[in-house]
Amino acid sequence: MTAKTVFQRIIDREIPADIVYEDADCLAFRDINPQAPIHILLIPKKGIADFEAIREDDEAILGKLLMAVRRIAEILGLDKGFRLVLNNGRDAGQEVPHLHFHILAGRPFGWPPG
Ligand code: 5GP
Repeated sequence: MTAKTVFQRIIDREIPADIVYEDADCLAFRDINPQAPIHILLIPKKGIADFEAIREDDEAILGKLLMAVRRIAEILGLDKGFRLVLNNGRDAGQEVPHLHFHILAGRPFGWPPG
């Protein structure tokens, strides 16, 4: 049996997190090591490791995640804008093998990203 990821442990309430949004399919909480004044992680409750692991029947969940981004931006009042990041795989620096968006806000962001 593979060990639970830290995000699965947050979903299962085994470790605490500062949760800002939750619905039947998604959970969002503050990053423990924030890279901006507002740094939220948004995850599907279904344990999808990365893009390679996405299946045809995950289409609805992917749409729900983007709708959750919209709701979180509204809840947190991110009216000056935000950066949405998804690190997928080794070269992108993905550390936790559970699909997640980073929602970053509260400062200007440069382009291209580092
Ligand atoms: P990745 O590099 O995989 O895209 O991002 C993983 C993110 O998870 C990092 O920004 C890291 O700070 C965050 N993280 C890792 N462990 C924990 C934890 O236990 N709690 C919270 N809230 N965030 C975590």
